[in-house]
Amino acid sequence: MHFASGIVRPPFEAGCEFLQITSGCSHNRCKFCTFYKDAKFAISDLNEVAADLDELARSPWRHYNRIWLQGADSFVAPYDHLMAVAELIYEKLPWVTSIGAFARVTNFRNKTVSQLERLRDAGYSRLTVGVETGDDFLLKRMNKGYDAAFALEQMSKVDAAGLTWVGQFINGLGGAGYGDANALESARLYNQLRPMLIYTASLTLFQDTPLYQDVRARTFREASETERLEELQTLIGALDCPTEIRCEHVSMPVKLAGRLPHDKERLVAELEAAKAAAADGTLARYRRSIVSL
Ligand code: SF4
Repeated sequence: MHFASGIVRPPFEAGCEFLQITSGCSHNRCKFCTFYKDAKFAISDLNEVAADLDELARSPWRHYNRIWLQGADSFVAPYDHLMAVAELIYEKLPWVTSIGAFARVTNFRNKTVSQLERLRDAGYSRLTVGVETGDDFLLKRMNKGYDAAFALEQMSKVDAAGLTWVGQFINGLGGAGYGDANALESARLYNQLRPMLIYTASLTLFQDTPLYQDVRARTFREASETERLEELQTLIGALDCPTEIRCEHVSMPVKLAGRLPHDKERLVAELEAAKAAAADGTLARYRRSIVSL
C-alpha cells in the first residue's frame, strides 16, 4: 500500500479500510497544524490507486464496508478523478458501500451542486470538513485560507446536494479572552447549515507549529481550561441547527456527546460540573500529558 504519511482518520471512522488518493495537504499553512508535514501535496495516479485496491482485494481481511480516503483533503481531487476512484473501489472491492474523506472548505470550489449530487450517488458520504471556526478574524489569524461567507457558500452547496458532512470545531482556537466570539460566530455559521455532526477538538499546541512561536513571542495566549468549558457552553447554547455534537477527541479532557437541541441542557450542565476539575488543575494536567493528536 502507498501511504506517504501515517494513517489519519477521525475516531468514528476507525472501522474503515484506508486508501490513499492524495498525499500531504493542498494548503499546509494553518498555524496550529502538525499534520502531513512529511509529505508534499500530490494527487495519486489512478494506476497507483488500482494497485493498492488489488492488494486490498487479495487480503482475506474484509470486515469493512467503507473506505476512508487518506490525505488531508482528498476531496480536493477533481470531480472526474473522484468518480474514477469510486468506480475502481466498487469494481475491485464489491462489498464496499460508501466512501469517506477529510475535506477542506475550499475543496468544493471546483465542483457544482449537480457534481456533488453525483458524488453522493456514487457513495461519498460523511465527509469530515475542517471548518474549525466561523469567526473571520480567527480564520485569517490561523491562515485557514477562507472566510465565513465563503464557508457558508461552499457548505450550502454540499447541503443542497444532500451530501452528508461532519464539521470540526476547535475549542480554544482564539486563545484567552476570545471564547465568546469563537463560539457565537461558529454557531452562527453552523445554524445556517446542516452538519450531521459537529465534532469538537481543543487547541493543543506543539512546539513545531507557527502558533507556538506566537505564544513564545507573547502575541498569543492560550485559553484556560475554564474558559474552554465556558466557550463550549456558549457554543451549545447558541446552536439551533438539529445536529449531533461530540466532544470525544483525545484533546478534550471532558468527554461528552448528545443530540441538539434535545440534550442541550444536559450538556451545558455537564460542562458546568466539569469546572471543578478545571479549577483544581486536573484538566490542565491532562492537556500537558498529550504527546500527539
Ligand atoms: S489543519 Fe488541515 S488544512 Fe490546515 S494545514 Fe493542517 S491538514 Fe492542512
